[in-house]
Amino acid sequence: MKFKVDKDKCIGCGACQAICEEVFKIKDDGFAEASKEEVKDKKIKEDAIEAMKGCPTEAIEEDKEKDEKAD
Ligand code: SF4
Repeated sequence: MKFKVDKDKCIGCGACQAICEEVFKIKDDGFAEASKEEVKDKKIKEDAIEAMKGCPTEAIEEDKEKDEKAD
């Protein structure tokens, strides 16, 4: 499972990073970016999904295009 952040929607609040810093990082431009790595660890995946649901602007979504080889 992979995630992506729509920078047009992101307001840089940092909530996603606070919930799941393994996947989401606030970059120098002030907006969040999702890891390009496949998220395999169950706990990290759960945290990332929680972060996705908790994003106040719904800027995070599952990146299905890059997810073809997922389990
Ligand atoms: S929670 Fe949403 S709005 Fe806040 S930094 Fe993360 S992606 Fe951006």
